[in-house]
Amino acid sequence: MSWGRGCCQLSFSFPALKITQEDVTNINTEQLFVLFFYCIIEKGDDMNNLTSILLIEDDESLNRGISFKLEREGFNVLSATYLKEAWEIFNKQDIDLIILDVGLPDGDGFEFCREIRKKSGVLIIFLTACVQEVDIVTGYDLGADDYITKPFSLMVLISKVKAVLRRKNNNSETEMFQCNDIIYYPKTMKVYKNGKEMFLSKTEFKLFKYFIDNCQQVITKEQFFNELWDMEGDFLEESTLPVNVRRLREKIEDDPSNPKYIKTVRGIGYIWTEGCFKK
Ligand code: CA
Repeated sequence: MSWGRGCCQLSFSFPALKITQEDVTNINTEQLFVLFFYCIIEKGDDMNNLTSILLIEDDESLNRGISFKLEREGFNVLSATYLKEAWEIFNKQDIDLIILDVGLPDGDGFEFCREIRKKSGVLIIFLTACVQEVDIVTGYDLGADDYITKPFSLMVLISKVKAVLRRKNNNSETEMFQCNDIIYYPKTMKVYKNGKEMFLSKTEFKLFKYFIDNCQQVITKEQFFNELWDMEGDFLEESTLPVNVRRLREKIEDDPSNPKYIKTVRGIGYIWTEGCFKK
C-alpha cells in the first residue's frame, strides 16, 4: 500500500497498513495528521484480531472500493495491485482469505493460485473478467474456494466472502450458546445475529463475552475495570467503557438507542437482560 494515494483514501486503508521504518521516514505532515486522528478513533480496537483479507486487484478504483466495503464489514484488508506486492504481503502476514484477480500487470492470478496452493490452504476467491467456462473450471481445479465474474455486485462478493469463511469454521464450531437471535461460539469467538456473523473487535468481544458469562446480573463499572480489563493488563479510561458498550450495541441491537440486550443501570453499570442457553 502506497502512502501517496491522498489523504481520504489513506484514512480508509489504515487497518490494512503495517507501517515500516521506511514509511515513517517518508511520511509528510498531512499523512501524520490523518494517522494521529485514526489512532484516536481506533483506540481500543485490535484490528489484527480480525479476519485478514489480501485483495489483489490492479484496477485501483475497484481495489479501493472493495477495500472500503470490506473494512466497513469489519475485515482487516491488505491490498495489492501487483503480484510482487501480493507475495511480499503474503509472506509477511497471516492471511485468512485472498480475493484474486486473474489479469494482473506482472503475471496471472491462476499462476499465483497454483504457487500458493503448493504451500498454503488459505481461502481463495477469484474475482475476474475471465468468464469462459474453461477459466472457471481452471480456477476451481487450482483450488479456488469460489469464483466471481465481473461485473459483480459488492453485496454478493461480501456474502461469498462470509460464506467461505463460515464453511471453513463450521467444523470447529461445536459448543454454542444461544440468546434469542444471537448465537455465540466460544471456541472460535464467532458471534452471529439472525444467522449473520457479527465481526467484533477484540475489545468488543471481551465485553460481549463478559456480558454473556454474567447474563441477567447487574455488572458494576468497578467489576468491568477490576475483573475484565485488568485481567490482561489493559489500560482502560473510565470514558472508554461507554464508548465500547455503544459500539457493541450498534452491532448486536436492532435499535441501539433503545437496547433490548444491554441496558444501562443508571449510576451503577450495565445488565445483559436476556438469558443465554448452551445448545
Ligand atoms: Ca485486472
